[in-house]
Amino acid sequence: METMQYISTRGTTRPMGFQDAVLTGLAPDGGLLIPAEIPNVSALLDDWAKLSYQDITFEILRLFTDLPNDDLRELIDSSYANFRHPEIAPAWPVGPVHILELFHGPTLAFKDIALQFLSNFFEYILKRTGRRLNILGATSGDTGSAAIHGVRGRERINIFIMHPHGRVAPLQEKQMTSVLDPNVFNIAIEGTFDDCQQIMKSIFNDLDFKEKYSLGAVNSVNWARVMVQIVYYFSAGLYVMTETESSHVQFAVPTGNFGDVLAGYYAARMGLPISHLILATNENDILARFFNTGEYSLGRVVPTLSPSMDIQVASNFERYLYYRLNADSEKLKAVMKEFATTGKLHVPLVSGGCVDDLFIAGVGTTADTLATIRKYHEQYGYLLDPHTAVGVHVAEQHLSRNDATVCLATAHPAKFSKAIQDAVGSDLAYHPVLDALRDAKTRMTVLPADEAAVRTFIEDHVQD
Ligand SMILES: *Cc1c(COP(=O)(O)O)cnc(C)c1O
Repeated sequence: METMQYISTRGTTRPMGFQDAVLTGLAPDGGLLIPAEIPNVSALLDDWAKLSYQDITFEILRLFTDLPNDDLRELIDSSYANFRHPEIAPAWPVGPVHILELFHGPTLAFKDIALQFLSNFFEYILKRTGRRLNILGATSGDTGSAAIHGVRGRERINIFIMHPHGRVAPLQEKQMTSVLDPNVFNIAIEGTFDDCQQIMKSIFNDLDFKEKYSLGAVNSVNWARVMVQIVYYFSAGLYVMTETESSHVQFAVPTGNFGDVLAGYYAARMGLPISHLILATNENDILARFFNTGEYSLGRVVPTLSPSMDIQVASNFERYLYYRLNADSEKLKAVMKEFATTGKLHVPLVSGGCVDDLFIAGVGTTADTLATIRKYHEQYGYLLDPHTAVGVHVAEQHLSRNDATVCLATAHPAKFSKAIQDAVGSDLAYHPVLDALRDAKTRMTVLPADEAAVRTFIEDHVQD
């Protein structure tokens, strides 16, 4: 088997191996790195249905990486060693759906699944090459927290995480700012998450700066994150299809940056029998509008009960768009340019009047979110976090007679206890990890939404 090469969606970056692709983050030509081929694993699924989560991870990552088998196994084992559930990502029948719990990692959100692996991988590479790394990231809450917990205290890594000041849930903020290890820098930007993301992109586009300070990315543009997330579609899909004796499965995915649902798209392309990916957004509905109309057009970010999805420009969307435009980088560049200048882009609809018949897209409003949390609590005794509730709400409009429906539960409800209180009338959601944060000491630096200010801060605090 030849090892996988990575190419850029924009078509002008020389192909590179997995390790370089992960350390590079954004491609030098401004595009996103994607595997040169998507392997088909249909013939292996019967065997995979019997494997543990870690073993399925190994089988999938082997296809995309160039690491020695023993090293890969060790990285996987240590990445999931501190999860609080032995199955890592268990799926349970709840009412008409299955809930896939992705929140058993250190920060109680699904991003731990990828970021625990990515942090271990970074350390592995840096040790072997004697290099150091300065991670720069932007977060609407959960990514930053999961990344910080992944790399805290590691010798060769400093981490700079920007979050929109005062716009992430208080507990999420605390999860980040209470990490006092000297290699962790929380930067609160006076602006929105999109401002943070814009500053990050712009700094990464300055290749001299990036090189000089060995900057690396942990945002969902990093291929390793998408890759690791492919795994739970397989593990849950195979398990639930067996349990329900279905030949296909559909997944409902609460979506912000299009990272999680993109992993589902790869799983489908790899041969997992997914009938539909049900893409669910909150009122920040650019992606839902796109899949329903073919027009991707910028709106204003409004704060909701599901802050990790309060996003307009979805950083992973370009990867999907590349495939949707038949892997034509020239066309992609033209369309992205149209978007950069007009705030809009279009793709033609397929017959049937949708953008892609694999996708169903819908919106869960604040009222829908609260009603769904209340209903699942009252009828099934299960507490949904508000992000998960958005996905469940949209899934309920699209249940299938033949196919099981798996709803991705992306956070533990205790992370968003205010929404739970608003929905069910009392403060039912708690978790000892979060209770312990109440009186924790915190540290962060507030900066204006200004690229120059962030650059100066990085220059003053890098490892070299
Ligand atoms: C990040 C996040 C999402 C959205 O995931 P994307 O990969 O950005 O689409 C949904 N729910 C929670 C709890 C999250 O942290």
